[in-house]
Order: sequence, then structure tokens, then C-alpha cells
Amino acid sequence: MSHADTTRVQQHIGDPLSESPPVGRAKLEEIFRDIQSDLRFDHQLNGCLNCGICTATCPSAHYYDYSPREIVQLLWTENLEGIYDAMQEKIWACAQCYTCAARCPFGNSPGGLVMLMREVAIKHGLESAKNVLRPFSRVMLKLISTGNQLSPDMISRDAFPDWGPNISKVDAPLATLRKAIPVPTLHTTKTAWEVNLKTSVELYTIWEETGVLESLKTVDPNLFDVIGDIMDEKRDDYSDWQEEQQEAEED
Ligand code: SF4
Ligand code: SF4
Repeated sequence: MSHADTTRVQQHIGDPLSESPPVGRAKLEEIFRDIQSDLRFDHQLNGCLNCGICTATCPSAHYYDYSPREIVQLLWTENLEGIYDAMQEKIWACAQCYTCAARCPFGNSPGGLVMLMREVAIKHGLESAKNVLRPFSRVMLKLISTGNQLSPDMISRDAFPDWGPNISKVDAPLATLRKAIPVPTLHTTKTAWEVNLKTSVELYTIWEETGVLESLKTVDPNLFDVIGDIMDEKRDDYSDWQEEQQEAEED
């Protein structure tokens, strides 16, 4: 039986340190239900001994005010206010390395649960999700419009001035390293970003059907509009190409 059928959510469970919930009870429950009803939830949360092994092996816990044990406990005890609170900042500290999942004696996947919480944060347009994703708008634009974002010729000191001062310390034999990457079509931005029209249109359908575009609309409406225009243009080009092929066959 799934957690969704045997919920232990009670009216009076909440964070005892929180004087007033930041959002209404109904919203807190809606957010929790969205996390809990995901198919992956029951596979990733089987119980929790509160042993802390996950936190002891978690690299992010060493550097941030973050503990996978705490996240799992919040979910396991259905602490709706604590869950909402963790979604404001803490869940974004996870590096998604899944060391925790390999170590948990209960077979939990704290990193996987964090991923679910992130997806729900995006779905609900939480400010934390918008803030975390904002610097990646250029990446999302390329990724969604072409299916690729990075090609080896972009790994250079000049390509990413917005990556901060440490990018200027890149001093590796980049030309040699790029040749070592075994996918020849990805050697330059030109070849990586020139995507077959049919492939592009298929990708757009995948983004639409899987809800990726709907999520993007929630967290970045401007980027959503830009990508929508690119998609319309490519779909028109693909239709024109199909018509040309049809006419050529009839001639
Ligand atoms: S999630 Fe697993 S490793 Fe972490 S505290 Fe709970 S039982 Fe221990
Ligand atoms: S997946 Fe996240 S929570 Fe788990 S060990 Fe890695 S950084 Fe920590």
C-alpha cells in the first residue's frame, strides 16, 4: 500500500518552533501531497532510523547548513511546515551524488527525495526555485532549443565570464582534452547546436508532454516566451520542409 493511501498527516502536526505557518494549511498539504504522490516516493522512503549515516557521508552536509537526515525525518513524520521551510533553501544544497542512497540501512534515497521536493518547488513557483534557476537561463535556452548546451570548444577562459573569477585559472591542455572526448559531432558549438529539424520538433514534443515547458513557464515566463517563439519558428520550418518534400515527390 502506498504512503498516499496510508497518510499520517494530522491536523496538529507541525513545526513546534514555527509560530505561524508562512502559507495556509491547505497549501502546505497540497505541496506535501504532490511530493508524496510521485511514483518514486514510496521507493525512496521506507522508514528512518534517524541514525545519521546519510548526513555523516553527505558532502553537502560538510559545507552547508544541510542534513539529509533532517530532510528524511521531515518527510517521514509528515512535518508539513518543516518540509515547506526546507524547500525555501536547504533542498538546493544537495549535490545529487547519491552517496546517502548507497549507505542508508533502510534503503532510502535522501538525494532522490530532495529531487522530488525540488520538482515540486518548481511546480509551485517557489521563490527559492526561481532564484536558483535564474542564473541558468542561458543554459536552459540552449538545452531546450537545441537539446545540447555545452560543447568542448566552449571550455575556455573567455566563454564563461559569468562563472566567476576561478574560470580565469583554467590552464589545462584544452585542445588535447577536447580531442579526447569521443563524440566527434560535439566538438564545436556549431555542430552541437545545429540540430536536425525533425529531431528538434520531437524534442519540443517531449518537453511539452513531460511538463518541462509548463515548469519553465512557472519559474521564468520571459524565457518561456522566447523558447515558445523558437519552437514555433522551427515547427514552421519543419512543415515547410515536409511540404517541399511532398511536392518534390509529386513532380
Ligand atoms: S535516511 Fe537512512 S541513513 Fe539517513 S538517518 Fe534515516 S535511516 Fe539513517
Ligand atoms: S545525494 Fe545529496 S543528500 Fe545525498 S549524499 Fe549526495 S549531496 Fe548529500
